[in-house]
Amino acid sequence: MHEISLIRSTFRTLAEEFSEVEFKKITDIHLKIGQLANVEPILLQNAFEAVVSTEFANQPMKLHIEWLPTLIKCPVCQHTSEVTQYRFVCQHCQRPCSQVVQGNELLIGKVELSS
Ligand SMILES: [Zn+2]
Repeated sequence: MHEISLIRSTFRTLAEEFSEVEFKKITDIHLKIGQLANVEPILLQNAFEAVVSTEFANQPMKLHIEWLPTLIKCPVCQHTSEVTQYRFVCQHCQRPCSQVVQGNELLIGKVELSS
């Protein structure tokens, strides 16, 4: 499942970036996910809770998701538009546009540690 591997790789990255002592203080994880990243919010929450309850049972952690809108940049007029309802059209000159500049992201935005 895509979401489980996403959660596992998030924890791998955190384990690399934080010391063991710091890692144990993590309470909240904020992910930034693009709308085109093909992630189901409910599946991601379920995957997060499954991994935390099996691998970090003594450390309750919360997942927060910030969804990033899909942005396209028009090759003709250079205008950046937000894609709504999967319409990849420049909002300035109405030309079809497929040059995505934001929307595929899967990033760790912020991590909160207990003091
Ligand atoms: Zn345009």
